[in-house]
Amino acid sequence: MQALSVPHSLINFTGSDFLIYDLNHLKGEFKKANINFLENEPMHRHTSFKIGGAADVFVNIGSKEEFTRVFSLCKEENVPVTILGKGSNLLVSDKGIEGVVLCLENLNKMTVSGERITVGAGANLAALCTFAANEGLSGLEFAFGIPGSVGGAVFMNAGAYGGEMKDVLESVTAVNSGGEIFTLFRDELCLSYRSSAFQKNGATVIEAVFKLKKGNTEEIKASMTEIMKRRKDKQPLEFPSAGSTFKRPEGYFAGTLIEQCGLKGFSVGGAQVSVKHAGFVINKGGATANDVLCLIKKVQETVSRKTGVTLEPEVIFIGRE
Ligand SMILES: Cc1cc2nc3c(=O)[nH]c(=O)nc-3n(C[C@H](O)[C@H](O)[C@H](O)COP(=O)(O)OP(=O)(O)OC[C@H]3O[C@@H](n4cnc5c(N)ncnc54)[C@H](O)[C@@H]3O)c2cc1C
Repeated sequence: MQALSVPHSLINFTGSDFLIYDLNHLKGEFKKANINFLENEPMHRHTSFKIGGAADVFVNIGSKEEFTRVFSLCKEENVPVTILGKGSNLLVSDKGIEGVVLCLENLNKMTVSGERITVGAGANLAALCTFAANEGLSGLEFAFGIPGSVGGAVFMNAGAYGGEMKDVLESVTAVNSGGEIFTLFRDELCLSYRSSAFQKNGATVIEAVFKLKKGNTEEIKASMTEIMKRRKDKQPLEFPSAGSTFKRPEGYFAGTLIEQCGLKGFSVGGAQVSVKHAGFVINKGGATANDVLCLIKKVQETVSRKTGVTLEPEVIFIGRE
């Protein structure tokens, strides 16, 4: 296999060339404030791709109050912050992530009131779907099987099988970079295909309210089971991946274009265009972020040359250059 260079233009670096900060001082502040943290935490443990170098500092946030405290300390110390959901749409650099990674998975409380469910951003989306079904609330069936957290699903306006977060979200509470808490209602969330206001405003989703409809638990669960079966039949769920690698280009399906270009099964190192579904890049074993980036570049170039269609990654690239 010919060596391919890493396409740096693909990477959305979270690093901060212009920030000057003292990470050891921040760690001291964390210790004083009794905030538990991990150092040099390998990110392959926290991504569905099972790829990624170490985060300098990793904090598993325990409560909304702890989030505000940790976030403010990072801001005061000028340390870059990366928000992690379940890592199911991320490709993390082999060189890791600079600064502090905040994992929100413990912010997972769910409460129901009539047809509304209020849920913490770190909650598992599948757990939310099951909770809604058990409460006899319909509307989230489409989301069953999308891996990830509620916060990540809001950020991405995640969707499948004809539904998207936009259809069921009523409001979202978030914290902006100044540490202020605010709430946005559905029309203010700028939800469109795999896009939301949070991709521009840089705020962190803390909680979401879903407005659902009364339904029958058995019928809702049957629909969820059917959707999961369709996923298992079509998607290479037996391999680590970050789901669909590319967004759906207008008027086409990325997987079909990639297959038509003869790229099904094409590999770079441990990364491969799935044989089962060409829209997925999978980690066959031992893939590096560099392998995945090179494969993505190769697919983009080939599809563009042969069909004239530009494929835009849906997977988000983060970490050091
Ligand atoms: C097998 C497989 C199948 C998939 N199928 C689908 C599908 O059908 N439809 C679909 O839409 N996606 C799908 N995905 C992609 C992925 O599951 C979704 O994009 C998911 O919503 C990402 O959530 P997450 O918590 O894992 O986010 P992460 O991957 O952790 O993060 C994604 C982005 O969201 C940001 N983010 C996360 N939480 C917050 C928060 N609380 N506040 C602000 N920003 C935040 C992160 O900083 C990052 O930029 C699939 C992935 C896999 C592996």
